[in-house]
Amino acid sequence: MPSNWTLEELTRYQNMVVSQTRESCRVLTLLGITLIPLYAILDYIAHRDYFIELSITRTAAVILFVLIFVYVKKRYDSMNPFVVGFSSLTLAATLVTIQCYILGGFASPYYAGVNLVLLAGILIFPVVPRQMFFLVTLNVLIYILAGFLKSNFELTHLAEFLNNTFVLMTTGIIGVIAAKIREEGRIQSFNQVLQIEKNQTELEASRDILQLNLQSEQDNVAALVQEITSRKAELEKALILAEHAKLESQLALSLREEFISLASHELKTPITSLTLQTQLYQRKFMKDQTLEPDQLSKLFMTYDLQLKRLTRIISDMLDISRIQAGKFELEVTEVDLEMTVKQVVDLAMSIERVPINLVTQGSVKGHWDAFRIEQAVLNLVTNAIKYGRGMPIDITLKSANNAVIIEVADRGIGIRPEHLGRIFDRFERAVGHREFAGLGLGLYITKQIVEAHGGKIQVESVYNEGSKFTITLPLK
Ligand code: ADP
Repeated sequence: MPSNWTLEELTRYQNMVVSQTRESCRVLTLLGITLIPLYAILDYIAHRDYFIELSITRTAAVILFVLIFVYVKKRYDSMNPFVVGFSSLTLAATLVTIQCYILGGFASPYYAGVNLVLLAGILIFPVVPRQMFFLVTLNVLIYILAGFLKSNFELTHLAEFLNNTFVLMTTGIIGVIAAKIREEGRIQSFNQVLQIEKNQTELEASRDILQLNLQSEQDNVAALVQEITSRKAELEKALILAEHAKLESQLALSLREEFISLASHELKTPITSLTLQTQLYQRKFMKDQTLEPDQLSKLFMTYDLQLKRLTRIISDMLDISRIQAGKFELEVTEVDLEMTVKQVVDLAMSIERVPINLVTQGSVKGHWDAFRIEQAVLNLVTNAIKYGRGMPIDITLKSANNAVIIEVADRGIGIRPEHLGRIFDRFERAVGHREFAGLGLGLYITKQIVEAHGGKIQVESVYNEGSKFTITLPLK
């Protein structure tokens, strides 16, 4: 047995030989069972005188082989196949030898039968040389014993004895050599199997390593792709933000420029009006050295109106900068909102001769900044007058669920639905400067005032039919 085998490999080899031996045992017993009756026919033809004796030995042989076969089949896994194999061959050789004895000892023609048994052992039984040598020696000895017994230990047939023993020994030597060659062949083929298995294991291991490498490479690539994707997304985001900031600064710049031109235009209009009126009456005064009372009253009215306009523009601008700087503060006191709204209506009516219907449910008291609330309502009412096409204006004051609702509705130009979302924003307007003067700040300031009080402002409008602005203020 090769010394480089591991214990496990040695066990595997032995198991393989054992299983081959089992198979051989079965074949051997089957061969015995079939061949022995065939020889009986030959016995009948050639040795009719000894037929009964020969038949007895053959029947005994068949019965024994059947018994061995059944035993082999039944105890297939647990039996020792060498023992069964050896007993089969020895039995066969013994029976043949008995027949040699019956038919004349050394002179018997059945010496060839012993030879046959040896040949069967060589060809079928996977024995190692040592076992084969034992088998051969046993067979030769049995044969010699039978011969001597028959001739009463006298060498009556010396020539046959020498001849047969020589043939048997030759077969035996061939058997031992064959067993040796076959054993080497078995070891070699088992070594090849081991080598193939080793190669396969190595291949599988290298395949596993390759797969692992591939997997880790794939993981690396995936991680890289992910990183690139996230970097790309970050860059895109940064780009969008930069673009946005650029646009915003451009927008702020253009808004500022627009605001400056609007503001100067808005401021110039009342100043021009004041200057023109003043120059007109100055010329009249220079010419007549006096002014009529109605002329004076007209002049004062113009002063009053334009100064109010100027004051409003300036205070709107101041409010915006206050809101912007986060310094928009409320001075909360107890306020009667009905009174405040009535004052606003009176003020508005004194400026424009527009019918205003005020509906209230009586005094509504709460805690607000009176000045700011008045400013907010005034903004809505002046807008209703400005964009109301001279049509009547409805103002409603009602309280509901710890809140007070102020509605200012007009029947004027209305607002297109697409503009409704932005008119509360800074500098946003839904009309052109040529049609209506304005800075687009009134509604923005109003919204800031209302929201600073925890309230909200809404608008409903139908273009060309009118608008309704609703302020909802919590009572506290
Ligand atoms: P301004 O009146 O100075 O333009 P506002 O902030 O008060 O600024 O109003 C913003 C815009 O909302 C106005 O330019 C106008 O287009 C629209 N608007 C406000 N009130 C009314 C209203 N009662 N009817 C129609 N349009 C209105």
